[in-house]
Amino acid sequence: MTFSCNSETSISYSGSYRSYLGHGRVAIPRKCRCGLNVDLRTCDDGRRFYVCKGDTMDGEPHLRMWLEEAILEELGELKDGLAGVSTQVQYLSVSCGRLEGIVSDIEVLKGIIKKRDDRAGYEFKMAVAFGIIASIVALTALFN
Ligand SMILES: [Zn+2]
Repeated sequence: MTFSCNSETSISYSGSYRSYLGHGRVAIPRKCRCGLNVDLRTCDDGRRFYVCKGDTMDGEPHLRMWLEEAILEELGELKDGLAGVSTQVQYLSVSCGRLEGIVSDIEVLKGIIKKRDDRAGYEFKMAVAFGIIASIVALTALFN
């Protein structure tokens, strides 16, 4: 898209530049490739654009971009990001299902262990009771 703004007549723009810091960066600009912040300005016709706050006369194109272009790119980035989040949510849902199965298995195992412990405790108590009875019988026989 050609960039032409009457309020910036001292500089000739042949088009929008997306020379941000970071390769492949699109969407709403925060920094120019030169490291400086960008400014959001308004043309005489009310159209808004981002521009580098730095020196634009160093021979390299600095950032110049229409606001609506930046917003469209930002929305595209967000849409792509949401698609990734959606996929992650699906993975999490599957993982949660697996975890619920594991928790259910653990509960079953806990029930089995409790029954075994209860039975072992009962058998231990019975062994102690028989031991006491045997001792009483032996003492009774000894004193008779
Ligand atoms: Zn710059």
